[in-house]
Amino acid sequence: MLGAGAGGASAAYYLEKYAAEFGIRPSITVYGRSSYTGGRSTTVNIFDDESELAELGPSIFVEVNRNLVNAVKEFGLTTGEAHKPRSAEAPERLGVWNGREFVFYIVGRRPLLVECSWTPIRTHNLIKSIVGSFLKTYEEPYFPFRSLSQAAYDLGLTNITSETGERFLEANKIKPLFSTELIQASTRVNFAQNLPFIHGLETMVCMATEGTVSVKGGNWQIFDGMIKASGAAVMLSTAVKQIRETDFGTYVVSPEEKSSPSPQEHEYDVVILAAPLQDSSITLTPLPPHIPDKIPYVKLHITLLTSPHHLSPAAFNLPPDALVPSAILTLGPDETPRNREKSAGHAGFFSTSTPRRVTSPSSHRDEYLCKTFLQPRSLKLILRDSWVLLAVVAILVVT
Ligand SMILES: Cc1cc2nc3c(=O)[nH]c(=O)nc-3n(C[C@H](O)[C@H](O)[C@H](O)COP(=O)(O)OP(=O)(O)OC[C@H]3O[C@@H](n4cnc5c(N)ncnc54)[C@H](O)[C@@H]3O)c2cc1C
Repeated sequence: MLGAGAGGASAAYYLEKYAAEFGIRPSITVYGRSSYTGGRSTTVNIFDDESELAELGPSIFVEVNRNLVNAVKEFGLTTGEAHKPRSAEAPERLGVWNGREFVFYIVGRRPLLVECSWTPIRTHNLIKSIVGSFLKTYEEPYFPFRSLSQAAYDLGLTNITSETGERFLEANKIKPLFSTELIQASTRVNFAQNLPFIHGLETMVCMATEGTVSVKGGNWQIFDGMIKASGAAVMLSTAVKQIRETDFGTYVVSPEEKSSPSPQEHEYDVVILAAPLQDSSITLTPLPPHIPDKIPYVKLHITLLTSPHHLSPAAFNLPPDALVPSAILTLGPDETPRNREKSAGHAGFFSTSTPRRVTSPSSHRDEYLCKTFLQPRSLKLILRDSWVLLAVVAILVVT
């Protein structure tokens, strides 16, 4: 198994599980380039304190992600609501910022009331129907599937993946105002992408937020648990440089000599590549007949900061005594199509939130933790001088 993230961990886990039903005990090895399991699902310690964690990658999942929900139960992990109620002093507020003003607020997660007549209900029904189809992929006759593409086709999901989010919403009579000010604001938080450049299914998945949870202590524990349960041998800090097919139909996996603690080659009957090929620096010999297309990923800087202060109202053109929303989504750019693709727009960042308070070990006072998905040049726009840059913790890549 090449990759110790969600893909590699779940492939190892289910391979062992289903093989065991037939009395087969496969011998599995999981390779990971990093020194930890979980891949992009990882946490950092705030103030170097192990009890104060922040997720860098996936911070939430929802109840319809059945494999994750089942794994949480099996491994005895504890989940918490991802959106905890905040104190009265800093109530939960969500705002959508267009770079000049907030186009709307939601206070206390009440339903959105905008002048979109039936659109919220229409969107809700659309999500319900898509989630209903998606859930069938977990059940017979669709599961188990030889090809996910075939299962998606049989369930009519490819009709949705073949349209851009923008067209799909238009075709389903979702008003443009609702699409850009709410739905696109959500696709920007989740994928750093605007509606014309992602497909309809991704778009709608962003809106299916019922039962949003996260694992206490870090979501990576799900994938770590899966690898452990599979009984796989784990080769971390081991970057694979080549996978070579032999004349006997087996595969030789060669780690890089310099960066790997155990650089010797190993031979396997099957290799599952559970990492984006284009970023894995692996040579495949011979090249398989179908190589995945190169995906134009978005570069995203996940920036964590702490401060005893709220976000500055002045930076958001608000009066000095106004409370800035605790979660800020942003509108996409409205300029030329070339700029629309990846640009963070007038706001200059994709989203920012102050999810909770943390106690500083040096000052022993409570500070706000702020997580921003952004292009770095915009950082100064939203912060007061007294914000402390805890870490530009990762330059991650999102599909
Ligand atoms: C900022 C951010 C926020 C996200 N938020 C969410 C969210 O809230 N909810 C959600 O469901 N999803 C979210 N996602 C998506 C989610 O993180 C990914 O879908 C998931 O982590 C992908 O898992 P993976 O196993 O495919 O890849 P990865 O997690 O990238 O794992 C790839 C693995 O391959 C290894 N590898 C790569 N090349 C080599 C090599 N040459 N040799 C050996 N090992 C190699 C790496 O070390 C790693 O272990 C988010 C993603 C990002 C970046």
